Amino acid sequence: MGTDSSTQRFGVFGDPIAHTKSPVMHNAAFQALGINGNYTAFHVKPADLKQAVQGIRDSGLRGVNVTIPHKLAVMEWLDVIDEGARIIGAVNTIVNDDGELKGYNTDGIGYVRSLKEECQIELTGKRIVIIGAGGAARGVAYALCRERPEHIWIANRTIERANELAQSLQPYGKLSGMGMDGLADIKNEADIVINTTSVGMHPHVADRPADPAQFNAGTIISDLIYNPLRTRWLQEAETRGCIAHGGLGMFVYQGAYAFEYWTGKPAPIDAMRTAVMDSLEL
Ligand code: NAP
Repeated sequence: MGTDSSTQRFGVFGDPIAHTKSPVMHNAAFQALGINGNYTAFHVKPADLKQAVQGIRDSGLRGVNVTIPHKLAVMEWLDVIDEGARIIGAVNTIVNDDGELKGYNTDGIGYVRSLKEECQIELTGKRIVIIGAGGAARGVAYALCRERPEHIWIANRTIERANELAQSLQPYGKLSGMGMDGLADIKNEADIVINTTSVGMHPHVADRPADPAQFNAGTIISDLIYNPLRTRWLQEAETRGCIAHGGLGMFVYQGAYAFEYWTGKPAPIDAMRTAVMDSLEL
């Protein structure tokens, strides 16, 4: 579909941005629903972020995704921040309503929707371990809290960050922080173990965040990484009888929520997933 003055425009801001799959995914969604929309990647350096946000208003972009390293910094330049994004402390989606810019965070809710739909699991009352305490962990932990699990343990290389994250989300659930050595103590407790670190991501595909042998067969072992689609950690977990859940669904659903905020229409999930799969160098 070509662009003209009636084309609704969208984009993603990041640095670096060359490898983003968001344009492929969203343009496929517009095409699938016959929407006259166009989604473009913008390379925005940190020093140019304020100007780029003003550019959303000036050039009438309807919606923008924000990725590394701008998810925190962008909040300063928006008019309204959704409550969830404020609690998480990061925005990945901006909606432009006639010049008023509102920020949302769809990473965590995207992850939870993917976990529930792909593993067919009810999260209420579950015991969940999150490995990592960075930006993605924050969004995932907050979204999981809303599902009322029994307990969330956060294990991180830097124990202070694990404790800090667990402490900051206390109003929303039962959480505790620990170092990576704490995994051995709770190995028989966990229903779901989620890797939110970058350990195992391309090109370091031989690395893994923990030894899956310590978790029981039947445990859901989940990884936010989707390049590769099946990390070494997931592959080993599967051979030990665990249920593997990869990160592609999170990427698709965070995009689907953004699409729904922008267009008010249910996102064409299958078309979006297929477009991303086709664009990955497998
Ligand atoms: P981040 O804020 O930089 O956090 C990185 C986390 O990984 C920290 O907890 C860090 O521990 C830990 N870590 C890094 N290297 C490590 C190592 N060698 N050993 C042990 N721990 C290590 O990054 P992020 O934004 O949260 O992203 C994390 C991952 O999630 C990335 O792989 C990213 O691609 C993925 N992600 C996927 C999606 C999706 O849609 N599927 C969306 C967002 C993010 P310390 O605190 O000790 O440094």
